Amino acid sequence: MFISFEGGDGAGKTTQLNRLADWIAEATAREVVRTREPGGTAVGKTLREVLLHGTDLDPRTEALLFAADRAYHVASLVRPALERGAVVLSDRYLDSSVAYQSGGRALPPEEVEQLSLWATESLLPDLTVLLDLDPVHLAERIGDHPDRLERAGSEFHRRTRQAFLDRAAADPGRWLVVDSSRPKGEVAERIRSRVETLLED
Ligand code: C5P
Ligand code: MG
Repeated sequence: MFISFEGGDGAGKTTQLNRLADWIAEATAREVVRTREPGGTAVGKTLREVLLHGTDLDPRTEALLFAADRAYHVASLVRPALERGAVVLSDRYLDSSVAYQSGGRALPPEEVEQLSLWATESLLPDLTVLLDLDPVHLAERIGDHPDRLERAGSEFHRRTRQAFLDRAAADPGRWLVVDSSRPKGEVAERIRSRVETLLED
């Protein structure tokens, strides 16, 4: 089973991913693999450095680097784990590319999606959890963040949020949208109850 966590910077993806991983490990006998994009692999860590600290990347170069990170991540880590029956939890996956490189950086969404589908041989998550947060909360959560990408202006964050919400609305079977301004325990509970049903199937 493959579950991705999506949402803006500071929406609580890492916290919720870890809570869910701990719960699955306790409640089932399944192996749980926690991973992330960009940077879930050794190759990916190098690409993440370029993406986060490289200066003046044009949108296409940026999209290709995210896709390269994803291709290697899926081929070397995600697919092998799924094939041995593990539950894979990824902090971001291809919907981040559509939201950031198209919603945020204005590349055509179909092209960004096709690039990711090519990179992953069309691997989609069984469930994508969108931790939705109004970007007005962003400054207070991430403060003065050193990454180039986190500093993008608030209009950029508003567009990426909308792109996530639009994608979720178009495919409700794959997505769970959670208001992440709610208390952490309540957010975790909503995610858990959806995953419980999935695990029973
Ligand atoms: O979630 P994480 O902090 O690892 O993301 C690193 C940075 O990359 C964030 O600033 C995020 O907004 C950005 N990002 C992006 N396009 C993606 C994935 C992440 O611009 N496809
Ligand atoms: Mg995080």
